[in-house]
Amino acid sequence: MPRKHNPYENYKAVLDKAAELLGLAQNDYIILKYPERTLKVSLPIRMDNGDVRVFEGYRVQHSSSRGPCKGGIRYHQDVDEDEVKALAAWMTMKCAVVNIPYGGAKGGIQVNPRELSKGELERLTRRFVSMILPLIGPERDIPAPDVNTTPEIMGWIMDTYSMQKGYAVPGVVTGKPIEVGGSLGRSEATGRGVTICARLLMQKLGRTLEGARVAVQGMGNVGSVAAALMHGEGAKIVAISDVSGGIYSEKGLPIDELRPHFAARRTLAELPDGDFVRISNEELLTCDVDILVPAALENTISKSNAPSVRAKYIVEGANGPITPAADDILDARGVTVVPDILANAGGVVVSYFEWVQNLQSFRWEEDYVNDMLERTMARAFEEVWALAQEKNASLRMGAYMSALKRVVGAKKLRGIFP
Ligand code: GLU
Repeated sequence: MPRKHNPYENYKAVLDKAAELLGLAQNDYIILKYPERTLKVSLPIRMDNGDVRVFEGYRVQHSSSRGPCKGGIRYHQDVDEDEVKALAAWMTMKCAVVNIPYGGAKGGIQVNPRELSKGELERLTRRFVSMILPLIGPERDIPAPDVNTTPEIMGWIMDTYSMQKGYAVPGVVTGKPIEVGGSLGRSEATGRGVTICARLLMQKLGRTLEGARVAVQGMGNVGSVAAALMHGEGAKIVAISDVSGGIYSEKGLPIDELRPHFAARRTLAELPDGDFVRISNEELLTCDVDILVPAALENTISKSNAPSVRAKYIVEGANGPITPAADDILDARGVTVVPDILANAGGVVVSYFEWVQNLQSFRWEEDYVNDMLERTMARAFEEVWALAQEKNASLRMGAYMSALKRVVGAKKLRGIFP
């Protein structure tokens, strides 16, 4: 079924708008409307009951202008080619905003991993890696986790690739378990980056996170860490949700008590009743807060609910949670949005640190990782803020302009081959 909001069309619309603000000619950036390579694969898997099922997978390399392609792998029932293309393009922009020497890529398998046993999931992962093997490698294209993919899965990816090479190649994938070359700080990095952006935004406005009312949509690796860290910095997390729905407490949720439950069960549905009321995801997005953190999937805020959003600030933990039409509505209403390609870049920044450590066979201390992340995010935030001010535009436009300058600049210097 075609999507209601095609994320790749959304990407191109935002790209055109930023290019126009920068005064770029079509010739300068038209190439960014096309991914460099798209590989579609069919993945036959022997299920535990003996049946054979065939899954569809993709690896899209959007750009390698600034360095090897980089981006996660998503396991979700709604994965399709346009989604992976958009996610790959957003990685190009994201790596450029935070100025790490990567292009952009993304992978995905159309599967609901909750319906698979662990053995089935491992076979699916290893088959997928075998099929995309010619495309990936530490100097070509480096996968990482995304929605529903874990450090354990990254370990299988590292192993499958290494078995083909005949020696251990930790730098082929990031987000690995620490024991096989993962970096300290990687698993919290995206949520930490979201928190840093929320704090920097508050600072710009002469406020702090202390006492700020926050709602977080999505309790995956991004949302759950962002909620905990923002709570740790004094914010009041009044609402959180996952696919099963959400919970709300006017006086703030006891995040520290809720996290272990969530980590063990991975759903809020089975949470015993407590000092909170149950709300829907739709209600979460429109509840009365200072900061809203959409950290689930694309297009959760569209033109139908954007007029009802009451948050003053939005920090995008997810990729593409706001449609361009919703963006215009929010902009007109004075809502400040820290865009995905900046707000959730903490993950790929620490992926970069992991890869660097792997290439050097060296280990960084966790404090050093977090400190370098903080600096990288702060520098990018300042650049984006300044560009947005200069052009009297949104932070999204600031971020895209900052990214475009770097990607287009690299393209110009390299020239078009042949
Ligand atoms: N999947 C994450 C993202 O969308 C991380 C990618 C990476 O670390 O390469 O940014």
